[in-house]
Amino acid sequence: MSQIEFYDTRSRSQRPFVPLSPGKVGIYSCGPTVYAEQHVGNLRSRLFSDLLKRFLISEGFEVTHVINITDVGHLVSDADEGEDKMEAAARKAEQSASEIADHYTELWRQDGEAVNCLVPEHNPKATDHIPDQIELAEKLETEGYLYSIPDDGLYFDTSRFPSYAELAGLDLDGQSEGIRIGVTEGKRNPADFAVWKIAKKGEDKRLQEWDSPWGVGFPGWHLECSAMSVRYLGERFDIHTGGIDLATVHHTNEVAQSECGYGVHPWVGFWMHNEFLTLEGPGEDDDGGEKMSKSKGDVKTLSDLIDRGIDPMAFRYYFLQAHYRSQHAFSDKAIQDAAKGYKRLQRIAMALEEVEGEGDPEAQAPFAERFRDALADDLNAPEASAVLWKVARSDELAAVDRRDLLRRFDVVLGLRLGEASSAAADEEREQDPRIDDLLAERQAARAAKDWAKADQIRDDLKAEGIEIVDSSEGPRWRRSGD
Ligand SMILES: [Zn+2]
Repeated sequence: MSQIEFYDTRSRSQRPFVPLSPGKVGIYSCGPTVYAEQHVGNLRSRLFSDLLKRFLISEGFEVTHVINITDVGHLVSDADEGEDKMEAAARKAEQSASEIADHYTELWRQDGEAVNCLVPEHNPKATDHIPDQIELAEKLETEGYLYSIPDDGLYFDTSRFPSYAELAGLDLDGQSEGIRIGVTEGKRNPADFAVWKIAKKGEDKRLQEWDSPWGVGFPGWHLECSAMSVRYLGERFDIHTGGIDLATVHHTNEVAQSECGYGVHPWVGFWMHNEFLTLEGPGEDDDGGEKMSKSKGDVKTLSDLIDRGIDPMAFRYYFLQAHYRSQHAFSDKAIQDAAKGYKRLQRIAMALEEVEGEGDPEAQAPFAERFRDALADDLNAPEASAVLWKVARSDELAAVDRRDLLRRFDVVLGLRLGEASSAAADEEREQDPRIDDLLAERQAARAAKDWAKADQIRDDLKAEGIEIVDSSEGPRWRRSGD
């Protein structure tokens, strides 16, 4: 077995993964800004951190995964200007900011469930951690990293942090040209960023604001991740994930705040960033796709896909077809192909679930090792998928070994193999609490790997003319022939 290695953005190299505390891994993933439905590009980031977590769990680590919910302070522009995205959405919908946040947080949660993401250990909201954020800002102020711009806010002086450019390999002189456009008056350096913004008085009164030593206002967007990661993972932790678009500003600023505020270096062991999904199709220029973003208007969400009859799990299957550090082309055709591939794989897995008997661990070992080593090599999902397909189609391996291997691989890939998902079967369901109870019992047996009992329940129901259909919402039943 090879050593686990991950690519680290900060050191620009793939290196052996060793956690800070043996046997335990802390992961922080930048989560959704809950002002709109998440697009499929965001979902890629989420599936990436989920695969990372599942793999580390399969390696025996105890993983603590934190995904934050940004419900304040994320301004339209990265240059600390423009409206707060939450406030803008709330005004438009004529609802409170917390109603908007609750609504989109729930949709985000449902998306995660539909693509079988594990529930994070902590899911903190920025607005629940304002005192933590103020505390960190006070630390930074005491150490002399902050300065104030009257009627605007408290800013971080990036010239006080020599390794500011390190994470993203920024060329600050080159970058400053871009940032200077619309630059905030009074900033000492173009890259300086707001840690606390002072709310404007009068008719522009904000929906969300808090008292602070610097006046009534709200935290800068970057502050929450520094403050909440410490709360749940400690002053240093193992892995920070996010989309590559976050590296240059958001993550760079998180590093500045955390390393200066807590006096640690490096703050995070590994920075793992996933690449974009690129859009293909009409409107695209000749040299390829474009970055998928919400501002483009025609973005696709998971519910768009579901509305078009695509099994959400097909998106998970699609995600596994590209390495997380490669751009991945997203198009109708790509997702249709993935849906077909997923269905084919499902059919094979379903048939193998009918096979009885015990497998031969020795025959399985070489495949299990190849699968595992692919993921140990910076989470090479396409390679792991290739091993999965080799096993699914193998005519050398016994059916019972193929069944065992697919079950084992699926613990890591999370494809819900062997559970036929059928959205159609969910419609017009007949009610029968007795059968529902039996289904629950069968699920418990499966969870406990008591396959004999699970199969017994299935067979008993079958004798009654009841067929079990596993859907993305869990098992359902229908009368055979329905
Ligand atoms: Zn963040």
